[in-house]
Amino acid sequence: MTTSASGASAEAAEADLARAGEFLQLLRDGRPRTRAELAQLTGMARSTVASRVDTLLSLGYVAPFGGASSTGGRPPSLFALNPQARVVVGADLGATHALVALADLGGTIVAEVRESLPIDRGPEEVLAWLSGAVTGLLADAGRPASDLAAIGIGLPGPVEFETGRPVSPPIMPGWDGFDVPGRLQRDFDVPVLVDNDVNIMALGERKTAWQDVDELMFVKVATGIGAGIIAGGRLQRGAQGTAGDLGHVRVPGGPDTPCACGNEGCLEAVASGPALARRLGVDVDSAAGGPEHKASKVIAQRLRDGDLETVRLVREAGRHLGSVLASCVSLINPSVIVVGGSVSQAGEHLLAGIREVVYTRSLPLATKHLRIVTSTAGARAGVLGAAALATDHALSPGAIEAAGRAPRRSA
Ligand SMILES: [Zn+2]
Repeated sequence: MTTSASGASAEAAEADLARAGEFLQLLRDGRPRTRAELAQLTGMARSTVASRVDTLLSLGYVAPFGGASSTGGRPPSLFALNPQARVVVGADLGATHALVALADLGGTIVAEVRESLPIDRGPEEVLAWLSGAVTGLLADAGRPASDLAAIGIGLPGPVEFETGRPVSPPIMPGWDGFDVPGRLQRDFDVPVLVDNDVNIMALGERKTAWQDVDELMFVKVATGIGAGIIAGGRLQRGAQGTAGDLGHVRVPGGPDTPCACGNEGCLEAVASGPALARRLGVDVDSAAGGPEHKASKVIAQRLRDGDLETVRLVREAGRHLGSVLASCVSLINPSVIVVGGSVSQAGEHLLAGIREVVYTRSLPLATKHLRIVTSTAGARAGVLGAAALATDHALSPGAIEAAGRAPRRSA
């Protein structure tokens, strides 16, 4: 078999591009490095390092760092990831509200928009709004559409991650099986990644406060209850994408409260925001803005007023959560459990209940260094995580390879 000379060099260029993408992973920590350091880190020859750095420089993903172009016209010696090279979109589409942000490759939000938008209006209306929001954010930030590298979206229901299609989501009529990436790609020719809201919140929380932690559980307590699990530094979605779906786990030794799913005593039926509010005698089901919004407002207000019955109920909800989380601790041994979602704004009382049970029911070795804390990213956990999902994809070796093959963009 023979290969033409030009074919061989095209193949070599292609392979070089793929390896340049792998190379970029080394620079993602943001630390500027010299060619010599990069050669040392990779064990590659200086000439190979130089050619990969040049590829990334020409794509704009890497930039010379500082005023290092020292003496006699020598090329710059320090290089770093250029966070401004491209932008990504992170969208957190909740049950009643949407938050969309434009972020650079370093995860810094450069523009954002929030809108009251019930998810039950259906995919056509919601995604048409999202598409318009992305166009608006790009304009606000003064970036052309060609600067957009990827879009990450979180949805309040189960999603098949590989295809970006929701799977029988309970509160999202019309969304079952809908091709979410396909709809957005009608307007933007970029990769679109879709995941459930709790998974992206786990990613956002880790990015914000726990970058060095590889074993983290993010528990969202709102209308629903669910967890995003990061183990071994990677998000664990499970075989069907339902890993961490804790809402309908039966609380051991808990009450037989009927649940919307048809079973009794589910975690959601005894510890969610609306469940707590109903026990306080608050009519949340007919509230404007949705039961979750009303429930979290009422609970927060009564806690501020020092209402003892509310304190007792919130703490009890914490203990119910704790008894389910104690099993999770035995199973996956996280080093951090972050509690987020609207009910977590009830703060210390909820956390106290969780800690009370988790620390007494788990083995000492599992809880020795376990921290149970409230969310640092707060309401932005979702958009930050969706942006991180998009960035991880945009900077992956495959995406860099594709970017290098695409016709050169004009500035
Ligand atoms: Zn249930």
